[in-house]
Amino acid sequence: MSEADLTRSERPQPRAGVMEIAAYVPGKSKGTHGKTLHKLSSNETPLGASPKAKAAIETVAHNLELYPDGAANELRDAIAETYGLHPDRIICGAGSDEILSFLAYAYLGAGDEAIYSEHGFLIYDIAIRAAGATPVVAPETDLKTDVDAILARVSDKTKMVFIANPNNPTGTYLPFEEVKRLHEGLPAHVLLVLDAAYGEYVRKNDYESGIELAATSDNVVMTRTFSKVYGLANLRIGWGFGPSHIIDALNRIRGPFNVSGMAIAAGIAAVQDREFLTRAVEHNDEWLPWVTAELEKLGLKVTPSVGNFVLVHFPDEDGKRAADADAYLLQHGCVLRQVANYGLPNALRMTVGSEEANRTVVEHLKTFLGQA
Ligand code: PMP
Repeated sequence: MSEADLTRSERPQPRAGVMEIAAYVPGKSKGTHGKTLHKLSSNETPLGASPKAKAAIETVAHNLELYPDGAANELRDAIAETYGLHPDRIICGAGSDEILSFLAYAYLGAGDEAIYSEHGFLIYDIAIRAAGATPVVAPETDLKTDVDAILARVSDKTKMVFIANPNNPTGTYLPFEEVKRLHEGLPAHVLLVLDAAYGEYVRKNDYESGIELAATSDNVVMTRTFSKVYGLANLRIGWGFGPSHIIDALNRIRGPFNVSGMAIAAGIAAVQDREFLTRAVEHNDEWLPWVTAELEKLGLKVTPSVGNFVLVHFPDEDGKRAADADAYLLQHGCVLRQVANYGLPNALRMTVGSEEANRTVVEHLKTFLGQA
């Protein structure tokens, strides 16, 4: 009997909802014909990783046969010291994606609802559905998270709210006053997840990554990552900070050795290399406004961003749409990100790259738009 002949009941079936998950589509890494000049599709840093983090990995390379410290004690200590937190209230994961999944698996199940924002990071949708729960999408206003829209969607079934602050792919942020208003409007049993993957890049006085709220509330967790400003995306390290009772629950479902020894060693060195971090943030301070201004000079609309990327909107005109621009740039080895799956069919997301990458993309877009 061929596989096609098997009836559904004769083969293993995933849990309800799993087949409704749209698998995450990562940013492309190659231009047309395999040519890549500049990869600006996954919000990776153009500065690479701290040399100290690279050196730290080498020390672990001599002991690949040994399991890592599953609790990542030294990494949690280093993070705690840097950010002024208690290490017992930190959990490390294989990327912050893993922490987001732990939260969903530990706190959501069939019949529960979790809310995220219209153009919010798509891992939330995946994590919610994978846990068997139902995603509820709150509309945004001007591509910004709308606190009232979220609060209006809280029901008896709501168990969790996910906010990326700043948000990917829009680059917009919620001022801390708004985050507090959201928190105050939520019932105490609803868990508020503040995903600050791009928190280090934000230069706004009214922004707070969520440390204060997670430190003082029973229902707030903040997640962070080493993948962006620290340049360690390849190693997969992220962390969460929250009340002890939540960290305890997450630790119970965490794989015993979920973070590798190399990731731990590199993470410790990276979080202690403040000079490198400052340079990475300063690079963004210089080039985020430059990229924004240059794209606007071409007549493109750019959503004001506080992250290390910009959302660029293209004309609704044959041959000039986002998909056309993407194809053109790919031909020239510049890889940006289409964001149609985020409900933004006529925009591209561009990571702020090296000076050369930024200038090259702007030049190509100038030609593409017939302005060269
Ligand atoms: N949150 C947001 C908003 C992101 O953009 C990303 C990376 N794309 C992540 C979390 C996850 O990053 P990582 O798993 O590499 O820590």
